[in-house]
Amino acid sequence: MIETKLDIQENPNKKAKPDPDKLQFGKTFTDHMFTMEYTRDKGWFQPQIVPYAPITLEPAAMIFHYGQSVFEGLKAYINTQGDVQLFRPEENLKRLNRSNARLSIPPVSEELLLEYLKELLSLEKDWIPRAEGTSLYIRPFIIATEPSLSVAPSKSYKLMIVLAPVGSYYPEGIHPVSIQVEGHFTRAVRGGTGTAKTGGNYSGGYNAQEKAADQGHAQVMWLDGVEKKYIEEVGSMNVFFKIDGQVITPELNDSILEGVTRKSIIELLKDWNVDVVERKISMQELHQAYKDGILEEAFGAGTAAVVSPIGELSWDDETLIINGRQTGELTKSLYTTLTGIQTGKLPDPFNWTVQIK
Ligand SMILES: *Cc1c(COP(=O)(O)O)cnc(C)c1O
Repeated sequence: MIETKLDIQENPNKKAKPDPDKLQFGKTFTDHMFTMEYTRDKGWFQPQIVPYAPITLEPAAMIFHYGQSVFEGLKAYINTQGDVQLFRPEENLKRLNRSNARLSIPPVSEELLLEYLKELLSLEKDWIPRAEGTSLYIRPFIIATEPSLSVAPSKSYKLMIVLAPVGSYYPEGIHPVSIQVEGHFTRAVRGGTGTAKTGGNYSGGYNAQEKAADQGHAQVMWLDGVEKKYIEEVGSMNVFFKIDGQVITPELNDSILEGVTRKSIIELLKDWNVDVVERKISMQELHQAYKDGILEEAFGAGTAAVVSPIGELSWDDETLIINGRQTGELTKSLYTTLTGIQTGKLPDPFNWTVQIK
């Protein structure tokens, strides 16, 4: 029987909490972190909460060479009762195991990991900022630790969870951004690793992101890697369009990452009796809808921003201005409802939230 009892070592040197008005994304970390080890004979073992500190790895550790790693991202809030609240954490843990399967990393017990996460959050409750738009960002991740240069799955892994208090994504209020449609670089292809949250998918996108930033755009919109025709995602977010009253999001196609926010938006829209479809949508079709005056709204969706309205799409030498660069009504309602449920300010008819006592 492998020891799965959590060991907690309290940090005797607690840091001062950051100024909630000056929080950036993922720059400040709390006093503690969670760690757990894996070896082939023991499985996952030695779950512990320890002071946040650097870790030691051999230079030959496989993570440094072939990038065998996965991660997750979710948020904790303090609800109106003063309790810690999570949004659909089981979805993130299921996805962690889907990413593990794709990267040949052994699965983790979702039930146990959720219990360990709850313990960590209880201990770090005072680190959860309470101001409007702020939250505690939770970053679970797994890295290959075996010291070996063979190109093969590692025989040992380390799972860690670090916590970062994060500021409002929209300090000046929700506002539409400008996006460049990427015609050359590809984020992911069918059969590749695009459906997994794994490190290399993101660094592979930096070239395109830098090119877009040079042109004054906030992010890139990714097209499919086969025909460079169909819309896939925007930055590290899923994407939605409202055309002539209908909401369209690209169907899951073995290269799009399945977002928890995406899933929740589809479920919300169905509940609101808004016509929503998951299907292929090409840039040509979007352009035609724009010319016909029926492209009404566009937005990205992901945990960090929740909903990020698109005000402008730059495609070759054309610029599509969406809704006069204003946040659309439906986009606004989705943002207000989702953040309301997440923070406990609105009722949760879907049972999406988990409270920690
Ligand atoms: C994490 C991520 C998303 C959004 O997923 P959420 O679960 O909604 O945060 C979308 N696309 C990519 C590429 C991602 O990494």
